[in-house]
Amino acid sequence: MATHFHGNQFANQTLELAMPFVSKADHCLLCHESDPKVLDTHLDLPGVTSDCRTWEHPHALVFCRACGHVQKKVDHDWHCQVSAIYESYNLYGVSGGEEQREFIAGIPVASRSAWVLGKYEAKFGLAEKGKLLDVGCGNGSLLRSFCKLRPRWRIYAQDRYNHIKDKLSLHVNVEKFYCGSIEDIEGQFDLVTAFHVIEHIVDLHDFLLQIQKLLKPQGHLLIQVPCWRENPFDLMVVDHVHHFLPASLISAAQTAGFESLFCSMNWRAREISLVLGKTSRFASTDKKKIQSVSSLTEVRSWLEWLRKVSERVMLLRADSLVGVFGTGIAGIWTAASLGGNEGFVFVDEDPARIHKSYLGIPIYHPSQILREQPVFLALPPTMAMSLRERFLREGSGMKWVLPPFSPQQIASFQEVGDERNG
Ligand SMILES: [Zn+2]
Repeated sequence: MATHFHGNQFANQTLELAMPFVSKADHCLLCHESDPKVLDTHLDLPGVTSDCRTWEHPHALVFCRACGHVQKKVDHDWHCQVSAIYESYNLYGVSGGEEQREFIAGIPVASRSAWVLGKYEAKFGLAEKGKLLDVGCGNGSLLRSFCKLRPRWRIYAQDRYNHIKDKLSLHVNVEKFYCGSIEDIEGQFDLVTAFHVIEHIVDLHDFLLQIQKLLKPQGHLLIQVPCWRENPFDLMVVDHVHHFLPASLISAAQTAGFESLFCSMNWRAREISLVLGKTSRFASTDKKKIQSVSSLTEVRSWLEWLRKVSERVMLLRADSLVGVFGTGIAGIWTAASLGGNEGFVFVDEDPARIHKSYLGIPIYHPSQILREQPVFLALPPTMAMSLRERFLREGSGMKWVLPPFSPQQIASFQEVGDERNG
């Protein structure tokens, strides 16, 4: 199944990490209001990286009281940690270089990028010829998918590492590869894609302004980012500086001169897909117009939920060998919270991952797991519930264990209770 995997391509703006430390921890990165609330009660839990590695600790979060945006506390320590992560970055390490697939009823149907591009084409159409720029192209998985879809387009790519260029050219006819800053990119494009990039960009406003200039008047920017409300494990990803909700992402784009043409939470589960067009209006310099999107209580309750996930899986392991479902961010984080590598195995449906091992732990297909063996569904609650239903329908004999109730589920139980009591 589609365990959450941030195969990540990050843009060169992250190179600023190597530059002298500038503290931005006292201001919101989106609306620039001061007095954000620092959240650090989760720092005893494990951290994880966007390329699915365990990391000793997560990093302190900052909640902006003015706009509700959740972000990392960008300080010297964060810069050091993130530099270390990028220096050893291992894109798609678990699956041996293959991009995560989408699964429907357990059947792998397409790579993640092919799936989202297909949705985009169905909604907006794609001309037979055009110019595409992929920002933060990583190992080129999106470009490969795109070239299959529209082989006559001219392809441009950007990333921070030069060695990617050689790997790319084996699979894709890239007209020009830009290594380094997006400021060096010339010309204008019909479509710019940024998949799992902008959650890494500290100075998002400047980045989006640059991209805006690279679009033709009728061009589109297609963004794909995780949504923390749908996937709270994202809060534990050390190198994600922004944790978006649809409204905060759209507001940030609007202040940089974009208009939102379409935003979907369904193109890919637990992620925001956003299609932006260029407006004729000047980009607003008033970052205070960013919408307020979440509450401090909500963020705290999700951090508490993560703690309960960790406690539940530890309790399970105390009794027997436990399966941890998924080898994406959520699965790896859950495994990390068990500490050490004993008493559990990974369970995954992705053929590219089965029979391999990760962190020295074998990865099994559900059909290889003994009956009555507990398998913990390390996923956001609603997703875990629908997955368990499918496995039970398919006659799987394992003991599928759900994560704790989400804050929303608990709130809805309380409402029902209040109605009955009232
Ligand atoms: Zn703010």
